[in-house]
Amino acid sequence: MPFDQPRILAQTLVAAARRAVGAASPGQWLAAAALALSGVAAFGIAPGSAVDPEPSQFVQRALDAPVVTPLAAAGAGYWQEERVRRGDTVGSILARLGIDDPETMAFLRTDPAARPLYQLRPGRGIAVETDDDGRMRALRFIAADGRRLTVARAGEKLVASSEAPAVETRWKMAAGEIRSSLFGAADEAGLPDAVTIQLADVFAGDIDFYKDLQRGDRFAVVYEARSIDGEPAGSGRIVAAEFENRGRVLRAFLWRDADGAESYYAEDGSALRKAFLRSPMEFSRMTSGFTNARFHPILQTWRAHKGVDYGAPEGTPVRATANGKVIFAGVQGGYGKAVHLQHSGAHSTFYAHLSRFAPRVANGARVAQGDVIGYVGQTGWATGPHLHYEFRVDNDARNPLTIAMPSGEPLPAGERAAFAARIAPANAQLSLVRSLPAGLLAAAE
Ligand SMILES: [Zn+2]
Repeated sequence: MPFDQPRILAQTLVAAARRAVGAASPGQWLAAAALALSGVAAFGIAPGSAVDPEPSQFVQRALDAPVVTPLAAAGAGYWQEERVRRGDTVGSILARLGIDDPETMAFLRTDPAARPLYQLRPGRGIAVETDDDGRMRALRFIAADGRRLTVARAGEKLVASSEAPAVETRWKMAAGEIRSSLFGAADEAGLPDAVTIQLADVFAGDIDFYKDLQRGDRFAVVYEARSIDGEPAGSGRIVAAEFENRGRVLRAFLWRDADGAESYYAEDGSALRKAFLRSPMEFSRMTSGFTNARFHPILQTWRAHKGVDYGAPEGTPVRATANGKVIFAGVQGGYGKAVHLQHSGAHSTFYAHLSRFAPRVANGARVAQGDVIGYVGQTGWATGPHLHYEFRVDNDARNPLTIAMPSGEPLPAGERAAFAARIAPANAQLSLVRSLPAGLLAAAE
């Protein structure tokens, strides 16, 4: 969706200026509007930095830790591997491999066990073993359900079988420095989007990735990469991560308890998760960056404006910042479509100008931290799409950007020793990726 950000930001600021000035004279209003417009340039980026479209010099590439992949079982034939292309059939793939074997094709078409071969996903590999006469001896393929299908010749007959393949998990590392956006730096570091989003999620209690990011912030990540039979099969969890935001260094380590529940803790076992997220904006490629992360001084005047405005494209998901209950979901005057959540104690949060509500968000519904409750819009009194967010204590608005958020439960004392032992290798990797010069990491790839 095209998004003319400076224009919309300017509109929002003009509107804010108009609100702040209220019934002032036309001259005063114009002065405030001019200030607001100049604010687009002056506050488009963090103080002391400039928008820099050039790629970062510091960014380091993802680096595979060494891994030993078991070789395919040795056979008398010749193994070839072919990638599935868009529109491929098993017949067209075998033809590319030079196999002209009507008997095999008849078997693959009729044997029920071979059915997964008719749901080919582009990019996936099919390994085929042929004999000297160009006949297929065996075929291996990872089906859409993750199981490995094997078709092999047993005597003169073909037999299909299916089994769960060996899933291999290894660690990858990446590090980068933010120049224009987190996703920009993550791309240069070779970090998959799914891991970048996890990174923002892990530190979401301490950093508002929508407003707090600054040029020069750094990150280092150790994450799981899965493969099935040597085929990349997506990334798993972040094992350890470090984020330096405005000079403050935060570290997080994954802990899986005896029941398999996963949480992130700081090195000393204190909780990373806060009762409230810093930001109600779901972090995404679309909202990444800090060109729209600064807001005008008029908006920062807390007395004039009892909330935080997040300029964002219409439709950007808005998430509950804490577990709670919906006490209002509907249209409320100038706020347009709004949601009010009651949390534990005296805390409540309020989200306004939504374009629509998420399904099941209605009075009395329970929501969990991070759940999408609605989408950014411009309903009510708004001249551009943005989210108006309020953090209230006893229904009195407080500044969520500065208020101290209560922490979550620390790691149980009985698990501390095991945690310390478990995070040591991850911590060592983190130190390594942080200390290596960029050139060395890239050369080692
Ligand atoms: Zn607002």
